[in-house]
Amino acid sequence: MAHKLPALPFSYDALEPYIDAATMELHHDKHHAAYVDNLNKVLEPYPHLAERPLEDVLSHLDHVPETIRTAVRSFGGGHANHQLFWETLAPNEFRPPRGAIAAAIARDFDSFERFQSLFSGAATTHFGSGWVFLVVRPSTGRLEIVPLPNQDSVLGRGTPPLLACDVWEHAYYLKYANRRPEYLAAWWNVVAWDVVDERLRDVVAGT
Ligand code: MN
Repeated sequence: MAHKLPALPFSYDALEPYIDAATMELHHDKHHAAYVDNLNKVLEPYPHLAERPLEDVLSHLDHVPETIRTAVRSFGGGHANHQLFWETLAPNEFRPPRGAIAAAIARDFDSFERFQSLFSGAATTHFGSGWVFLVVRPSTGRLEIVPLPNQDSVLGRGTPPLLACDVWEHAYYLKYANRRPEYLAAWWNVVAWDVVDERLRDVVAGT
């Protein structure tokens, strides 16, 4: 069964004015689609890998033949990371997190403002292309900010992701040119905190 590009959970212009429709269309229909297409092409000669859930494959890259390992890491990671990115965005006016996620952020980062500043700092200073994730360590329930280069997957590291921020230039260049901090300031307005909260509750509940 080939991997599929998931439909965007909202229209291209739903995140305006923070993320523009042209960027969303290009980002989803071209960039994310290319990761899925390339992943399927690379896995085609390996049906036993193509049939496995992507998270399993990315969790055990050492089981992937060396000749396709780098490609699977990039295209598979790109597919998984973008899927998470769309899922944790929402066309809502900014409101601070509520519920379990709000309590966990206050406990682990002192305040939401300090968390935002640490996360934005990691995203601003991340050199080149990559991602910044908020993850949770299941054994302790503690939250951690994890930057990763290129399309390295956040899956299979033992710390389930709650939130993803794409800092590749293709995520913001059309509207913000090289001004990554402006994109980040806008991105906070469209974070789906209710989804992030639900993801945290699922991990804590052990599902
Ligand atoms: Mn991207």
